[in-house]
Amino acid sequence: MLFKHIFKLISKEIVRDGLHLIRKRKLPRGMLRGDCHLGYCPICQARTVFIERDEWLRDNYHCIRCASIPRWRAIIYALETHCPDWRKGRIHESSPGGTSSEKLERECLDYVATHFFADTPAGQMKYGYRSENLERQTFEDEEFDLVITQDVFEHVLNPALAFKEVARTLKPGGAHVFTVPWYYWKKTFVRAVQENGDIRHLAEPDYHGNPIDASGSLVVTEWGADICDFIYQHSGLTTTVLRIKDRYRGIDGEFIEVFISRKPKE
Ligand SMILES: [Zn+2]
Repeated sequence: MLFKHIFKLISKEIVRDGLHLIRKRKLPRGMLRGDCHLGYCPICQARTVFIERDEWLRDNYHCIRCASIPRWRAIIYALETHCPDWRKGRIHESSPGGTSSEKLERECLDYVATHFFADTPAGQMKYGYRSENLERQTFEDEEFDLVITQDVFEHVLNPALAFKEVARTLKPGGAHVFTVPWYYWKKTFVRAVQENGDIRHLAEPDYHGNPIDASGSLVVTEWGADICDFIYQHSGLTTTVLRIKDRYRGIDGEFIEVFISRKPKE
């Protein structure tokens, strides 16, 4: 009887949140169709319902409260479990997007977000973001406790330089926490290279959505089994890969690994 009462209270609360989000048009169209289950969202830090709209969970497995997708919940959960003081440190996030970035901005005391704007000099602001090229950053050495990138490094033209720059700007003991589509069953495949300022395609161009560019972002690298070696070779950072499958927290699906590259403490 008590259980029934509690369940009624929970479902009432969730339905109210769902209707509120729909009225605000925050949920993707058709999101309420699909299989659903109860759980706990690491981004909302609250009970929720997760809805699966398609077998391809990566883009179709949403929290009804914040409309987040699995990899956003995975990176926040990885921060909570592996870098629990993240709210108190100085964070640089490159190319933010999604409710995970919104949470970082909202809850971290010292959060800096950057985008690469070709028409804005590095270090200057545009649309509320600082203009920075990950490969040639204007930040000081050892400025950050954490650097966050979410599905960015597959688009970077010179990832060796970018990983090196991330390491330079991290404090000793700091970490680069990131997601990237990981083809762990094969070797890294380079789809394009930059030569004398031009891009030479080595494979059919493939583009992903980009929040600040309607034409999308070119996929430069399909990262494979050797990614941790590559990072160590070019930056000296040691990488751990987390593959989380936790249905209760809505973390399941394709390409949702979280990478944590740590800088030695000296
Ligand atoms: Zn949520």
